[in-house]
Amino acid sequence: MAEKILTRNFHLPGSHTLVLYRETGGYAGLEKAFAMKPAEITEEVKKSNLRGLGGAGFPTGVKWGFLPQGHPGPVYLVINADEGEPGTFKDRYLLERDPHALIEGMIISAYAIGAHLAFVYIRGEYVQPWRIFGRAVAEAYEAGLLGKNIRGSGFDLDVIVHRGAGAYICGEETGLISSLEGKKGWPKLKPPFPAIRGAFGAPTIVNNVETICHVPHIMNRGAAWFAGLGTKSQGGTRMYSVSGHVTRPGVYELPVSATLRSLIYEHAGGIPGGRRLKAVVPGGSSAVLLTADEIDVTLDVDGLKNAGTMAGSAGVIVMDETVSIPEALMVVARFYAHESCGQCTPCRESTGWIYKMARRIVEGKGRKEDLDTILDVARRGAGTTICAFFDGAVGPYISYIEKFRHEFEALIRK
Ligand code: SF4
Repeated sequence: MAEKILTRNFHLPGSHTLVLYRETGGYAGLEKAFAMKPAEITEEVKKSNLRGLGGAGFPTGVKWGFLPQGHPGPVYLVINADEGEPGTFKDRYLLERDPHALIEGMIISAYAIGAHLAFVYIRGEYVQPWRIFGRAVAEAYEAGLLGKNIRGSGFDLDVIVHRGAGAYICGEETGLISSLEGKKGWPKLKPPFPAIRGAFGAPTIVNNVETICHVPHIMNRGAAWFAGLGTKSQGGTRMYSVSGHVTRPGVYELPVSATLRSLIYEHAGGIPGGRRLKAVVPGGSSAVLLTADEIDVTLDVDGLKNAGTMAGSAGVIVMDETVSIPEALMVVARFYAHESCGQCTPCRESTGWIYKMARRIVEGKGRKEDLDTILDVARRGAGTTICAFFDGAVGPYISYIEKFRHEFEALIRK
């Protein structure tokens, strides 16, 4: 059984409290970090091969290194707790069951990048996680772990917890920043990247909840230990949200070197009722669909990339043989049509067109040319938009049709 790191305390009553966090070794990483220079922490995080676990999978220490050196004004740390990718529900468990892991990770990360103000942007629908995390922040202030001169280190950090209003696009870092600034959550063209010009025009590092929760453990046990848990290009463990047709849906923490097959069959108990597996979405709804023959892949960022899909947010949606892939595409297409922010013509128009075509195919009114039209519209729009939203939608549009074209054609014929 692989060692649990992020979820090790989840089963303990009171795991969300400061008392229990400290009893189980919490805030020891912070003491170690304060004995180091900020640049040494960034180096350690680089060596650990910690990758961003929110979706993009970018190396965390490398991202921190993009901040301009000697910047005269403020620098901000923003935690992305928007977790809106369908099929993904792991950050909410960290916020609810181990909020001090995130707070400790934030203090260390803010110290490393020279930020004295950090924001936590929590998805609007996450009312309970927001309440629990807010209480943990208050506890940390009372204990002198936030605010001025933390633990006598001379380092100051304030934390602002901000609730979103439920828009998927606010999980995109520039959309999130716009929303945080009190504007419409519209993404912006990059460059400039947030590390150069982010929240309120200041250099800003945006990291996901789970990513930052790993940082105290890296401080405690070292970069080499963390890197050794994973693959050559990605260290550590990861929390996988498993939903759909498995016997035991839930959140599983595994080394990133584990395979998709072992996650589904060993950990999540396989497909119930003796039915067969049809397809798996391995990294949230924007990931390219894998067929039952394609699940012998490792779950790290590069393993899934080499398999033609992506690790994304590690939201694993399992579909058994009873699932109609055209219906699944219709549901996904409805989501993207609804959530497009509407700034870019290819995204605003194509998501709506594709949903309409997918729906009429499912309703038995599909036309022969619909499938090629969907593929054409998806391919033409890819890479032409402000943010990665439309490119993310293209993955399912194309892969559902290319891998299960016979199901769509059968419906159209009927
Ligand atoms: Fe908005 Fe879509 Fe353009 Fe992103 S790609 S900015 S979601 S319209």
